[in-house]
Amino acid sequence: MSQPLVLASNNRGKLAEFAQLLAPLGFALRPQGGLGIPEAEEPHPTFVENALAKARHASRLSGLPALADDSGICVPALGGAPGVHSARYAGEPKSDAANSAKLVRDLAAHADKSAYYYCVLVFVRHADDPQPVIADGRWTGELIDAPRGEGGFGYDPHFLVPALGCTAAELPADQKNRLSHRGQALRALIEKLT
Ligand code: IMP
Repeated sequence: MSQPLVLASNNRGKLAEFAQLLAPLGFALRPQGGLGIPEAEEPHPTFVENALAKARHASRLSGLPALADDSGICVPALGGAPGVHSARYAGEPKSDAANSAKLVRDLAAHADKSAYYYCVLVFVRHADDPQPVIADGRWTGELIDAPRGEGGFGYDPHFLVPALGCTAAELPADQKNRLSHRGQALRALIEKLT
């Protein structure tokens, strides 16, 4: 019998990716929206605090174990920005193109163009679980001024993977999933849960 697990996200891409990798462990993933659970606030300054808040919220309202993720892009030359503010770096309304344009502008005066995507995953057995299972992943690259590629989302057209000579938006989805911060975090989480 599979064990229901609430995903504290309604993103279809994440649901498909996470469901596939978690099914062999006996988990049947359910998006929180399908259970009538509204999105949690993400007021914290760190990825792990936000992911924990989302996982606790989904578990408390569903009475089920929950999995949450939080991710973003961090640029060392900008002190780690956009970080937890990646989704709305250029403000409202949320726009991938405006966020990327602002990042390119902010980095223009800096020689160091390195950046990394970061993802943290938090699994809680119940809302007050004193030992959440936490795993993370980091994908390092360089930011380029002119966008390249049609795939992915967010900052991907500006995120060059130097070893491959292409941007994250130029990679086929399955290759991005294998390399990405989210893929790394998910594999690390599965190792911990197994
Ligand atoms: P979330 O954790 O999925 O809400 O992602 C937060 C934000 O980080 C997104 O809106 C994107 O701007 C950025 N981000 C996270 N992961 C990726 C990625 O794989 N590619 C591009 N942008 C990403």
